[in-house]
Amino acid sequence: MNHTDITVQGQTDFAAPRITVIGTGYLGATHAVCMAALGFEVLGVDVDPPKVAELAAGRVPFFEPGLPEKLREVLDAGRIRFTTDFDEAAAFGDVHFVCVGTPQLPGSHGADLRYVDSAFTELARRITRPALLVGKSTVPVGTAARLRELVREVSPVGEELELAWNPEFLREGFAVEDTLHPDRLVFGVASPRAERELQRVFRPLLDAGTPLVVADLPTAELVKVAANSFLATKISYINAMAEVCEVAGADVDVLSVALAYDDRIGGRFLRPGLGFGGGCLPKDIRAFQHRASELGAGQAVAFLGEVDGINLRRRSRTVDLVRELAGGSLEGVRVAALGAAFKPNSDDVRDAPALDVARMLYLEGATVAVYDPEANANAHRVYPDLDYVDSMDAAVAGAEVTVLLTEWDEFRHADPGVLGRLAAARRIVDARHALDVEAYLEAGWEYRALGRPMIGAPTALPQGGGVAIAE
Ligand code: NAD
Repeated sequence: MNHTDITVQGQTDFAAPRITVIGTGYLGATHAVCMAALGFEVLGVDVDPPKVAELAAGRVPFFEPGLPEKLREVLDAGRIRFTTDFDEAAAFGDVHFVCVGTPQLPGSHGADLRYVDSAFTELARRITRPALLVGKSTVPVGTAARLRELVREVSPVGEELELAWNPEFLREGFAVEDTLHPDRLVFGVASPRAERELQRVFRPLLDAGTPLVVADLPTAELVKVAANSFLATKISYINAMAEVCEVAGADVDVLSVALAYDDRIGGRFLRPGLGFGGGCLPKDIRAFQHRASELGAGQAVAFLGEVDGINLRRRSRTVDLVRELAGGSLEGVRVAALGAAFKPNSDDVRDAPALDVARMLYLEGATVAVYDPEANANAHRVYPDLDYVDSMDAAVAGAEVTVLLTEWDEFRHADPGVLGRLAAARRIVDARHALDVEAYLEAGWEYRALGRPMIGAPTALPQGGGVAIAE
């Protein structure tokens, strides 16, 4: 392979492969910038010319803390470029990471693989020397093996083209940290050559002690969806307990703290609330079920249908709480919707529970003022009918009910006394169990949260109860 000598992190000289990253969205842009930050020469490739132009000009087209600074750093160092040209990519790279989207197919639970198929094919057709293609997108099990055959058929170099899968576990909001300091690396390989080349690419992380799991292609593909299924199940588990608490008059917050003290259970992803969303978990658990059914193992993951159902019910139940606080009808009621992103520290509104709730309130006749610190523009593109305002104060001003939908720090730390003076009525639904209940009650607010008793002083939670925020 065509290697250049570079210094990685100013420490070790070694023959480093040149890297392309195909698809520069949330995952790909982060991966490209971080590989350049590790010292590699990187070419980012996307079919979206405005996105490529933004990145080339040093602007990250989405919100990700720390990424703009890193992009500026590697652009200034001359280690990264961006293009829409696949010929250039094929000529440049020794290792090509494919990070394109795999959204849910319209009218089906299956994954739409057209972008993955196109990226691999377009690249492979142009590659004229030995190279490694590495899939990072989340795909149905069996995709990598199929693509390995396909790229070898279409490439002029045939079997000299190798394919591996390297599933990605980064979390939006922590993407830079997760990429540079992952909790594990998984290499899905079909040959020693592929493993050797991946070892070379990830050497800086492996040298830093990152645990490595080497697997075959189908196992590597399954690691990703199995992990996401587990996390989704844990979130829906505590939300199922919230549903039972609601009818039993029990308090799910206290229940979750008590469960979290059990080391075997742990507190992470055990916070009750509005549930999960975003561009990964919902579509990944659906695609997993779909694929397992195709393979004759649908029964094994049928429970994921329940996980999904519990998660979606949290949205309509949140609307119920707002309606109850409004006195039984949402017609003409002014609601402040705090949050639109699927989670804090992100501007991603794909399958965002917050935005879904805001939309349902609007469809029931409420006048909804939405404010999100970063996601207003994306939300407006998806649901232009809602009113978007530029500050929390503007959203709450005149509101008859306020609903916290995304637990940004700005909302968590707001002063309930100040907000109370802006609102038309002091009524709040804390759909993320993120607020200081006592402070709101003291400031005269009516407070509701899913799975908690109607009102009254909150039960004291133990110090350091270990309930982490679901990410
Ligand atoms: P995204 O929509 O933000 O980015 C996908 C990018 O691919 C877009 O910029 C699009 O223009 C580009 N693209 C589409 N077809 C292309 C082609 N043929 N050639 C080049 N570029 C092309 O999506 P994302 O969130 O970055 O997710 C990408 C994949 O990574 C998905 O499979 C997702 O499940 C997986 N993943 C995402 C995350 C995350 O946090 N976002 C984490 C782990 C895994």
